[in-house]
Amino acid sequence: KQNIRRLVLGNWKMHGALATNGQLLSAIRSAWNQSSGAAACDVGVCVPFPYLAQAESALTDSDIAWGAQDISVHAQGAYTGEVSGAMLAEFGCRYVLAGHSERRSLHGETSQLVADKARAALAAGLTPVVCVGETLAEREAGRTLAVIDEQLKPVLALGREAVAAMVIAYEPVWAIGTGKTASPEQAQEVHAAIRAALQGVDCAGVRVLYGGSVKAANAAELFAMPDIDGGLIGGASLVAEDFLRIAEAG
Ligand code: PEP
Repeated sequence: KQNIRRLVLGNWKMHGALATNGQLLSAIRSAWNQSSGAAACDVGVCVPFPYLAQAESALTDSDIAWGAQDISVHAQGAYTGEVSGAMLAEFGCRYVLAGHSERRSLHGETSQLVADKARAALAAGLTPVVCVGETLAEREAGRTLAVIDEQLKPVLALGREAVAAMVIAYEPVWAIGTGKTASPEQAQEVHAAIRAALQGVDCAGVRVLYGGSVKAANAAELFAMPDIDGGLIGGASLVAEDFLRIAEAG
């Protein structure tokens, strides 16, 4: 396995409330700071926009980073409802998701828009976490690798310097929030293809995360695969104990 530093990133999606977030953030902060895991693995949480200030105050000076779940392609202007990269940076974000499958399917985000979001994130000094993944129909039609290729194409076209500063997350749509995890072998097959595509722009060291029903019980076997460098964790990131056990597997 290449010597790539692991990353375990939580995606809270549209969950949370001030009181419960406070408990979750302080539980993960204190446990992770006491654990030796931070030596081997980076950890972060991507929270809803209104809770960025809360995440910042709860996690500053800890080993846990925070970030957002979406970003505008625009720097500023008449874009009601949008949030710019500079705004995210002001709240101390390190990471921002780009092109989560829920954004692609529910909000019509194209792969070109996702690449533009990744570029906007980089321009603001953030690390974009570009999400790719096939639907069940696409997998059953034997189109998985072709779909991933299409989704990556405009992202890779941003060039070596840009890609080197990103994280890629492979999230098969059929595994997200379904309790149905890709087997380590199924995931590895796609991760190897993503690694080869990254190699094509001289970025083989970019972290490629797996996401889709990762749990404490299956994290270690997934993270043991040669091209899986950590995870993007939805549901399990809302439970401190589960998220910490996954991070410990990282
Ligand atoms: C996600 O939202 O990115 C995700 C992987 O969700 P879950 O872990 O709940 O499947």
